[in-house]
Amino acid sequence: MDYVKEPKMRPVFPKRAVVTGGMPYGNKELHFGHIGGVFVHADTFARFLRDRIGEENVIFVSGTDCYGSPILEGFRKAKEAGTFDGTIEDYVRKNHESQKDTLDKYEISLNLFGASALGRAGEIHNEVSKEVFEGLYEKGTLEKLSSPQFYDPKFKCLLNGRQVIGKCPIQGCQSEKAYADECDLGHQYMPTELIDPHSTLSGLTPELVDVTNWYYKLEDCIPMIQAYVDDLRANSNARKFMLTTIEEFLKPPYIYVQKKFVEDLDALRAKFPEHDVIDDNKNSYTFVFKNLDDRDAARKVLEGLSINYRTGKTLVPFRLSGNIEWGVPFPEKEGLKDLTFWVWPESLWAPISFTRAYLESKGADKDEWKKFWNDDDAMVYQFIGQDNISFYGIAQQAMWETLGLKKTFLVPNNHILFMNKKASSSGSIKPPMAKDLLEFYTAEQMRMHFLSLGLANKSVSFDPQVYLPEEERNGADPVLKDGNLLTNVFNKIIRTCFYTLQKDFDGKLPNVAVSEDVIAEAKDAILTYEQNMYDHQFHKITYVLDTLIRNMNKRLVNNMRVADAEGNTELKAQVLVDSFYGIRVATALLHPIAPSGCEKIREYLNVDKRIYNWEYIFSTLTDLMDDPSNHEFKFLEPRVDFFKLHECQLAAKEQ
Ligand SMILES: [Zn+2]
Repeated sequence: MDYVKEPKMRPVFPKRAVVTGGMPYGNKELHFGHIGGVFVHADTFARFLRDRIGEENVIFVSGTDCYGSPILEGFRKAKEAGTFDGTIEDYVRKNHESQKDTLDKYEISLNLFGASALGRAGEIHNEVSKEVFEGLYEKGTLEKLSSPQFYDPKFKCLLNGRQVIGKCPIQGCQSEKAYADECDLGHQYMPTELIDPHSTLSGLTPELVDVTNWYYKLEDCIPMIQAYVDDLRANSNARKFMLTTIEEFLKPPYIYVQKKFVEDLDALRAKFPEHDVIDDNKNSYTFVFKNLDDRDAARKVLEGLSINYRTGKTLVPFRLSGNIEWGVPFPEKEGLKDLTFWVWPESLWAPISFTRAYLESKGADKDEWKKFWNDDDAMVYQFIGQDNISFYGIAQQAMWETLGLKKTFLVPNNHILFMNKKASSSGSIKPPMAKDLLEFYTAEQMRMHFLSLGLANKSVSFDPQVYLPEEERNGADPVLKDGNLLTNVFNKIIRTCFYTLQKDFDGKLPNVAVSEDVIAEAKDAILTYEQNMYDHQFHKITYVLDTLIRNMNKRLVNNMRVADAEGNTELKAQVLVDSFYGIRVATALLHPIAPSGCEKIREYLNVDKRIYNWEYIFSTLTDLMDDPSNHEFKFLEPRVDFFKLHECQLAAKEQ
């Protein structure tokens, strides 16, 4: 009996998809981490999906996150320093335009790059925000809570979240900056927990006054989120480190107290509400409470005794409103008025607003967005940085469930470091702006490099040699390594094929079949690529392309040498047909990554866009020609590059 090898199962893609690339904050231009850590990956995936499931079935949206206290602060300071003249809308619009320009330069193919406060997208966002509030309110998942807010005793005003700086109270947190109720690593806590607070206005220790806001009862969602994580772990290719990060929050309320501060454990415990104690650590006790109220009561006890403590991660009420003037208006309800939405929650549903704005601009029905966000055969892929996992993975998924929306699929990347250090806009190492990199590298070189870093698995350093002092530059620039595959190897293959075709075959592709082994190798590359794309393993895609193109090059160079030496026209014809097939396959696979270069290849091959379409992915080049025997290629002049070097690299090469 013949042994029949089981065909490899191919992944199933949705019928329609939304791709989102985070919401860059509107107080500045994009730095390299926005592009290299999120947008290039999101764009590559969106472009792939368009080729794979049809352009009309994919909507790729993002936009400027316009509201919130850091923008208000930035605007206030810029006005004060006289570096900006205009309204706060003007201030945000300027940054928004600059962000959009950078995204265009990196060929990020957004269907809409909106802005939460500007234009039609901003208007729709106000409507959507109201709908979300009503939806959550109707389900009884909102509550009014009075919580302490910081007040500056000298300036006599309430301080917004960014106007207070202290140390993060979460056990083991390494953040450099902790604000009123969140640190720059995304931990959330109550303002009373912030350690050593200072007002950024007066430098004084601020007072706490009670302010009432709307909260989503996230603390009730532990079982729901646990079920979601369990489902992802069992049934999906979601990144494991994300599941671990989410699970860290799904613990009951803990308090950690160092043993050296506890003289009499029993006496202390007698003062606490119902709890358990875990004594599995040399230095500290862990007290486990039934709910947040009990933990708060215990904290008061500890504060009364002047005993230092830290709290553990757990789910806390998720604040929806605030009292910052610069925000989406919050609906008036139960006598609470003059509130605005807190910027974090409204940025979570902004991609819905942008999808609606985009579809409206295309003349679609008002409810069309649901076909993309909520249908069984649709998927929403959200590319995010690891710092945002708790917002998207917990708060958003819980609210979506309440609202009857489908949970989105998150693709979190690890940190992209700069010169081995974590660069953050608030930290001391200033990251290069994304635009500045384009003075040294082409967009395609940067795209290839960022994809190859493997941010799916770990944090990786971005080390562009041009940012090193001359004396520290050693060997080749690591950033150029991946792009060389295109600017060097692939360019050469294409040129050789065209020149041979023009010189020896009168510009007509010989009428021979592609070699079976070449077809088999290409098929294997296509299927591996498809699986890696499905798993969002972008660095593995660059390996597939590397192997495919280098093997193609070897075959071409070796066989051409033999064919020339032997004067073997038949062999030369075969090599040419095999190589043009290789070019056709590589062009389809490269299209999501280096679109401009691929368009240029297509122009010279003189075929239509079916070359990118996965319905035809196994077709040969001849299959794509309307009239193969009369097909004309575009004539290739000497020294044409399909994938370009940067001007400054050309200058260096000619020296
Ligand atoms: Zn923290």
